[in-house]
Amino acid sequence: MTKVLAINAGSSSLKFQLIEMPEETEIAKGLVERIGLDQAVFKLEYGDNEDKLTTEIPNHGKAVEILLERLQASGVIKSLDEIEGIGHRVVHGGERFSDSVLVDDEVIAEIEKVSELAPLHNPANLTGIRAFKELLPNVPAVAVFDTAFHQSMPPESYLYSLPYEYYEQFGIRKYGFHGTSHKYVSERAAELLGEPLDKLRLIACHIGNGASVAAIQNGQSIDTTMGFTPLEGVTMGTRSGSLDPALVPYIMDKTGKDVNEVLHVLNKESGMLALSGFSSDLRDIEDRAAEGDERAELALKIFAGRIHQYIGSYASKMHGVDAIIFTAGIGENSKAVRERVLEGLEFMGVYWDPARNDVRGKETFVNYPHSPVKVIIIPTNEEVMIARDVQRLAF
Ligand code: ADP
Repeated sequence: MTKVLAINAGSSSLKFQLIEMPEETEIAKGLVERIGLDQAVFKLEYGDNEDKLTTEIPNHGKAVEILLERLQASGVIKSLDEIEGIGHRVVHGGERFSDSVLVDDEVIAEIEKVSELAPLHNPANLTGIRAFKELLPNVPAVAVFDTAFHQSMPPESYLYSLPYEYYEQFGIRKYGFHGTSHKYVSERAAELLGEPLDKLRLIACHIGNGASVAAIQNGQSIDTTMGFTPLEGVTMGTRSGSLDPALVPYIMDKTGKDVNEVLHVLNKESGMLALSGFSSDLRDIEDRAAEGDERAELALKIFAGRIHQYIGSYASKMHGVDAIIFTAGIGENSKAVRERVLEGLEFMGVYWDPARNDVRGKETFVNYPHSPVKVIIIPTNEEVMIARDVQRLAF
């Protein structure tokens, strides 16, 4: 039996999960928040227990030190030797990484190079990689990229209609994100459908605060809604999704904001937050819509409408679809959003059962048995995917 740590390091946070492989059992999980700020918080959950600590954690190195110390002090592991591999989530792998990879100095340098494409995320992911390298130098580490799964997209999907040299010189193209999740749910869907993944046409809707839809044909991503950055595509919690690019200078002109301030608006002050006028959290919006709040209702319509639209588009692109998958916070939990997304899709063979859709966070089929297109809710598990890649590449 082997224990693997799945790590997701952000600029001021570090999420972790300890997984027993090959059983894929979660042994412990937790997070460190507010790294580098006053009063950082460390939280570890294992079994029915919770270990919480509020202290000064100046950097990721210290966060990892505390994590390793608490894992032992709590008895989750007896010694550090039990951790046989570490998997790091890395947001951007550019065109260089179409699969996960064992981390060495060259890989770190390559991730650094790609950081230009994800300046907020990759450097933070690297701090996690470096902190573990320092403290557990002999434990193999694997980098798992959000973009890797989408590297199978053909040029007709990933190229923007821009001067070709922008692609060649600056790497301007669609990369796509949430790849680890799209890959997990597509593999799981094939298992649930009892059919080989390489014979299926799937549309995966990863709908959380961030949201993206992917067209997955024969196990390969052939298109996805997020683009050069995770801003493109469907409406999200606080992100606008796709819009007319000519709006950027127009908004700058009208509001007096500079380009970075407008980008901030598009990333943090738009989407469901802007449409509803009060919250980016879907639960709040659903509650208010049920009370008759018109803006909340409109936000829901736009949110679900965009996803609905992409389902039609991707079904057309793949000349049909065998199953539609819902995952992530909203996809797994919100029957109202699923209802609105699926409404009217009978024309393309999607017959879904409102009673079966009345579930939360449960792996289940939502379609009527006779429906040519299946609809499946699959709780995502990016950590297990990371642990699988550690096992595949490091052992
Ligand atoms: P991310 O990982 O992108 O931050 P999540 O996948 O955790 O986001 O999804 C968060 C979203 O899921 C929030 O909008 C939240 O309101 C929604 N959500 C979580 N639980 C429920 C629920 N029971 N009903 C409706 N929406 C829910």
